[in-house]
Amino acid sequence: TDTNTDTSSGSGGLRTPIVAVLGHVDHGKTSLLDTIRGSAVTQGESGAITQHIGATAVPLDVISDIAGGLVDPDDFDLPGLLFIDTPGHHSFSTLRSRGGALADIAILVIDVKDGFQPQTIEALDILKRTQTPFVVAANKIDTIPGWNTQEDGPIQASLDAQSDRTRERLDERLYSLIGELSDNDISSDMYWQVRDFQHNAGLVPLSALTGEGIPDLLTVLMGLSQRYMKEEMEIDTTGPGSGTVLEVTEERGFGTTLDVVLYDGTIRTDDTIVVGATNRTIETDVRALLQPRVLSEIRTEKQFERTDELSAAAGVKIAAPDLDDAIAGAPVRVVRDQTLDSVTDEVEAELAEIAVETDENG
Ligand code: GDP
Repeated sequence: TDTNTDTSSGSGGLRTPIVAVLGHVDHGKTSLLDTIRGSAVTQGESGAITQHIGATAVPLDVISDIAGGLVDPDDFDLPGLLFIDTPGHHSFSTLRSRGGALADIAILVIDVKDGFQPQTIEALDILKRTQTPFVVAANKIDTIPGWNTQEDGPIQASLDAQSDRTRERLDERLYSLIGELSDNDISSDMYWQVRDFQHNAGLVPLSALTGEGIPDLLTVLMGLSQRYMKEEMEIDTTGPGSGTVLEVTEERGFGTTLDVVLYDGTIRTDDTIVVGATNRTIETDVRALLQPRVLSEIRTEKQFERTDELSAAAGVKIAAPDLDDAIAGAPVRVVRDQTLDSVTDEVEAELAEIAVETDENG
């Protein structure tokens, strides 16, 4: 046929890289995510960021707005970044995708005045083990004595605004971080000095509180993804969906539902899916795909909006019968062109892998 209406034949596309935030407790993971969401809301055109279930999508044009002159949208063809909303390495290590970490890229947050702490080292070990590329957010620079804040600006503007003494204090902290990273077998440098991001981690000095350095962080994440991950982001956008369960939750009117990050393909209502559960797999049919309701003036009791179809990368709540035994971290697969048996085998194999990992971690 001449007309290309057969979506099952598939079509190529680039998906959004999935970003996770890790680091020691109180070093600012939650604040950083809040600030990124906040600046995306104020600086972007209204409605430009989309709140997903369990994740926040920041499209390229919004990143470019926030980053000011640092990001030219014409230099990129990846659609933006999808931030997983639950920070921390516990969620990072339970969230896996076929053969690796669910997150494509990570932000390791370190408080500049606190330096390396036990969970910093744990997070680093996980990033090394999963070979996840990462950027170091050297957070809380505004706590350096004498700091002169340049709200929401690029780091260069902040550095230019400091006295020599304050610059020295910051540099001391940053070089001590580089030393600690080196003690942990990571070679790193200020991000603007890094040529080869595959072998060197870039440090981005920033403040989640004042927003300075956030433009740089988004620029580095976007640049890293574009440069080193583009091939992995090439997916068959209309192929059968693959995802990972973030959470299993009860929802009034829907029963047990799954919060899922979709990292490949498409999911539609009425799709048959196979989901990993404790010691078994669940085969069920999607009853509804739910997304957070976009805020409107009309007050409504409804928290969710239904959608018929979603493509990766996205966060979505799946309502379907028989989900009670599903577990966080388990795979979700849409059955479309393959047989149910082969999809079930795949899910079982991945579940076995998760079990092995869990044992190894004690
Ligand atoms: P998490 O445990 O890593 O998620 O850390 P939080 O985001 O909850 O931050 C812990 C505390 O540090 C909170 O009181 C934040 O307000 C504060 N904080 C986070 N980022 C900054 C920062 O850049 N500057 C300052 N001064 N405080 C910060």
